[in-house]
Amino acid sequence: MNKGKKIYEGKAKILYEGPEKGTAIQHFKDDATAFNNIKKATVEGKGVLNNRISEHILNNLNQIGIRTHLIKRLNMREQLVRLVNVMPVEFIVRNIATGSLTKRLGIPDGTILSKPLIEYSYKNDELGDPLVAREHILEFNWIKNEKELDLINNYCLRINDFMQGMFRGVGIKLVDFKLEFGKTNIDGTETILLADEISPDTCRLWDVVSEKKLDKDRFRKDLGNIIQAYQEVARRLGIIHEESNISEVKFGKPKAVNITKKK
Ligand code: C5P
Repeated sequence: MNKGKKIYEGKAKILYEGPEKGTAIQHFKDDATAFNNIKKATVEGKGVLNNRISEHILNNLNQIGIRTHLIKRLNMREQLVRLVNVMPVEFIVRNIATGSLTKRLGIPDGTILSKPLIEYSYKNDELGDPLVAREHILEFNWIKNEKELDLINNYCLRINDFMQGMFRGVGIKLVDFKLEFGKTNIDGTETILLADEISPDTCRLWDVVSEKKLDKDRFRKDLGNIIQAYQEVARRLGIIHEESNISEVKFGKPKAVNITKKK
């Protein structure tokens, strides 16, 4: 499928114009960044795995009635998606306290939350995606009105319920994750769609027994074996086969990551 012009290049993905109006091609890169671009590396094979894992999760969400931007996966690194106007709010859903929540509030790492906690951050790289309140979102019209925000909150909780079950079934705790939503016109109706990706880059995933991290924290915290952890997630979800040699042929043998840190 021929790609059109580049629309946008992000830290881990590139968006190109799609073959028809209202479509786009989402390309998954191997680039990894953390701490708002301060830490960067290339992790060979990451884009391929995230493409497959995100396809798997979004397809499953479609089947439970959550509408997503995904139309279909095109190849190892690309998906055909609906072009949406992404809302400038990231929805963070947490089941277990870790990461920025524990740093910000001094809550002990690993504290199990009594119910899922939804946090919002304003999508703005220059400001470092600051945490915001519902009131900011409504005051600055980042989302149209309270009804729409409640609807999206509801989607977040349904997605969390579904994903918690899916991961629990393969021995993984869904600790937290980030979602993005966008709007597009489908058959004359303005429709909210889940956009972006859901992958080990955007979730925290811990092995149920050992609590081993199977997500981007391996990169953030220099724990090593990043690609092996992502492969493990894909293998447990039944996306790639048991024999890791097969995946190595497909995704390339894991290489040492080349990390550059800005001062
Ligand atoms: O860093 P923090 O603890 O706030 O991250 C919460 C969750 O949201 C993590 O799963 C992280 O991977 C994800 N996240 C993301 N993109 C961001 C910020 C957080 O995918 N820009």
